[in-house]
Amino acid sequence: MRIGYGYDSHRFEQGKRLVLGGVTIPDSPGLKAHSDGDVLIHAVIDALLGAAALGDIGSHFPDSDEEWRGADSALLLASVVRELFANGWKVGNIDATVICEKPRLRQYVDEIRDNLAEILKTDISCISVKGKTNEKMDDIGAGVGIEAHAVAMLMELPS
Ligand code: MG
Repeated sequence: MRIGYGYDSHRFEQGKRLVLGGVTIPDSPGLKAHSDGDVLIHAVIDALLGAAALGDIGSHFPDSDEEWRGADSALLLASVVRELFANGWKVGNIDATVICEKPRLRQYVDEIRDNLAEILKTDISCISVKGKTNEKMDDIGAGVGIEAHAVAMLMELPS
């Protein structure tokens, strides 16, 4: 059994679609990024890679690489899951927190959990996603962007 932690943050960018956990969130600006800016999936990827000590999202999908421009982060996560399987690991559970003043995420949380569970080849009961505000403190509280934190537990696949 292994545990990992991941963190990510992105600024809002007008004219882009907001995607969190692979789910499009309506009526919000998107996030500035080389990829689709899915800050939640990026934190989950770093938690998973960290648990397996397999590097980080930047070493797997460099933002200097044109291949990943506008990339669908769900596909990056699926590729990480395949790499974990190849290294003898499956996802035990994920607990993630997304922090922003707007939009409020509660009504989207179950759809995000369901989508992540499918990509991670696990059950929705193993995926927790929590939305919080920063109580108007600091840049996140001022609405500059979104940050996400995730912890992941990996279990050894039976050999
Ligand atoms: Mg990122």
